[in-house]
Amino acid sequence: MGPRKVIVIGAGMVGLSCAWSLQEYGIEVEVLDKAAAGSGASWGNAGYLAPAFTVPLPEPAILRYGIRAVLDRHSPVRLPPRADPELARFLLRLSRNCTSAHWTRAMAGYRVLNERIFESFDAQLADGVRGEVHSADVLAAFAGAAEATGLQHELDGVVASGQQVDLELLTGEQARKAEPNLSGRVGLAMRVRGQRYLDPVAYAGALAASVRARGGTITEQVPVSAVRHSAGRIRVRCADGGREADAVVLASGAWLPELAAAHGVRMPQFGGRGYSFTVALREPLRTPLYFPTARVALAPRGDRVRIAGVMEFQRPDAPLDPARITATVRSLRPLLAGADWSDIRDQWVGARPLSADGIPLVGPSATEGVYIAGGHGMWGVTLGPLTGRLLAEHMATGATGPELDWLRPTR
Ligand SMILES: Cc1cc2nc3c(=O)[nH]c(=O)nc-3n(C[C@H](O)[C@H](O)[C@H](O)COP(=O)(O)OP(=O)(O)OC[C@H]3O[C@@H](n4cnc5c(N)ncnc54)[C@H](O)[C@@H]3O)c2cc1C
Repeated sequence: MGPRKVIVIGAGMVGLSCAWSLQEYGIEVEVLDKAAAGSGASWGNAGYLAPAFTVPLPEPAILRYGIRAVLDRHSPVRLPPRADPELARFLLRLSRNCTSAHWTRAMAGYRVLNERIFESFDAQLADGVRGEVHSADVLAAFAGAAEATGLQHELDGVVASGQQVDLELLTGEQARKAEPNLSGRVGLAMRVRGQRYLDPVAYAGALAASVRARGGTITEQVPVSAVRHSAGRIRVRCADGGREADAVVLASGAWLPELAAAHGVRMPQFGGRGYSFTVALREPLRTPLYFPTARVALAPRGDRVRIAGVMEFQRPDAPLDPARITATVRSLRPLLAGADWSDIRDQWVGARPLSADGIPLVGPSATEGVYIAGGHGMWGVTLGPLTGRLLAEHMATGATGPELDWLRPTR
């Protein structure tokens, strides 16, 4: 028999989706968060739900690019100024996984998940989540053809895995017609059809409201310091005292190793911090716009546009570094006409929960009754609802399958 009461630690897109899906099986849930619900990485991200781009992070090009990039102070990739043994362990393992063979194997797993991304959102929307998800083409823009080879190679790999990608090449002129905010410096674009996007703050808020409306509790500002199994129950030590449940889901994003290490999760993980901010554009953005060379994604956000990018390997709670925002503006200024760079608002930093093999960690831990939902890296919004479905089904019914085997947190 499945658990009657589950505590979920972490009220991000992943934890809230787990709670919501557990409720589908009539399970009572309490979600605990050390801060406000949805205020981690699930807050200021780009909000793309883009199966064509949902691919494993480690691949040979990031190794070549990464070394060049960390030596360039204007690049979107940053390492911390001081040595960090955990980061060294993570980067060593990540770099070992930067092979074509690993990417192809991992992509085969992603393909299976990617096929189910939209249905997992549709299920939430059909059953009480009052969020908005928009269908869109993603426009990837480049200065010239040489810049586009990396993304073309990646999309070829996605297609080779058996996933469909609906792609159209545009000249610079056609690209500007499709998106007038592009500058004359853009010489080529790829239109990737059939993707979606959402406003992550609004969507996580709608998901939290639905969890509450179905009788769940979300308790904020309660840091959890330890989780242990004792006499058939799971005991959670937290700032406002202890709690007990039949099972616990650790969904604490980039902070996951702090709690999961005690439960047999050995995969090195680290925060890949990204930055975002909003600016006004002369004309509203028509479609999500991606600049692969600058590694920056743009999405409409009300009457402004959210600009999200940067990969800074740094502890999740370190302060925001304004130099990263300046570097992002510097890389975008020549490509994006009509942006008002004098009025930058909503500056934000958040940590992508990266796993060293680029594969999320979802399923039972080594401790009975303690489950893991994390390590979604670049794609935790996209994969949150599906993660919730897979994990809740397993916890409630014992069902397993190739997906959960591949996502096994104790691998
Ligand atoms: C700049 C940027 C752009 C991105 N763009 C996209 C995108 O377009 N599409 C996409 O799919 N993904 C995107 N991502 C990635 C995505 O944001 C993350 O993968 C996702 O938000 C992770 O969700 P999560 O619930 O695992 O983590 P989080 O949202 O970080 O939630 C974890 C929660 O756990 C809580 N917590 C941690 N430790 C404890 C503890 N000990 N006790 C209690 N609570 C705790 C935290 O307070 C936090 O609220 C982007 C990320 C960044 C940074």
